Amino acid sequence: MDKTLKLLLASTNSGKIREYRLLLADLGYEITTLAECGVGKVATEPGNSYEQNARAKAATYAKLSHLVTLADDSGLEVDALGGEPGIYSARFAGKDTTDADRVRALLARLDGIAWERRTARFKCVIAIATVEGQLELCPGECQGMIAFEARGENGFGYDPIFYLPKMDRTMAELTLEIKNKISHRAQASQKVWQALQRLRSLDY
Ligand code: IMP
Repeated sequence: MDKTLKLLLASTNSGKIREYRLLLADLGYEITTLAECGVGKVATEPGNSYEQNARAKAATYAKLSHLVTLADDSGLEVDALGGEPGIYSARFAGKDTTDADRVRALLARLDGIAWERRTARFKCVIAIATVEGQLELCPGECQGMIAFEARGENGFGYDPIFYLPKMDRTMAELTLEIKNKISHRAQASQKVWQALQRLRSLDY
């Protein structure tokens, strides 16, 4: 494959960027970021699904950068909260709050909820857009439970309270390499190569 093909990773979330750099390393594309290609952050219209949000981000940044662009939208769905915070995961504790604030807010909302009712899943939808407006979607998800307290220092976001029964660890207790084998973002990333092949067959 042509090594000079560039793929813009349209995220300003350093945790996501770290994961994607590794997840997409073998694609045969040169991965670049918004910061590296001098494209500033722009607000896209919030939609009401991961798909809509991912599509809007990828299409907007592809137009701005003139590069094939990968963007994602992701979130945490907690069954005891009827699937909340979902697409609102980044804003769960309000504007200008930290990951630690969001973790505290979620634990507070789940206060008194028994272990067996704390089932949850991370979801991620990757959108890849071409400059000409073609688009591919790659979904992924990862099942777990919301722990009673935060544990672990790795990862980002809700990782310290996302417990994986099969591994007896929270996501934040996993190394980046292990998280990248099992996460929602890893599942979605496995579909990216084929999606890029389909887009290339459209001759972008
Ligand atoms: P967005 O995809 O930028 O809208 O943000 C998704 C939000 O969901 C992040 O700010 C995190 O709070 C949370 N999130 C998404 N993926 C992960 C993950 O892999 N670990 C922990 N939290 C995540």
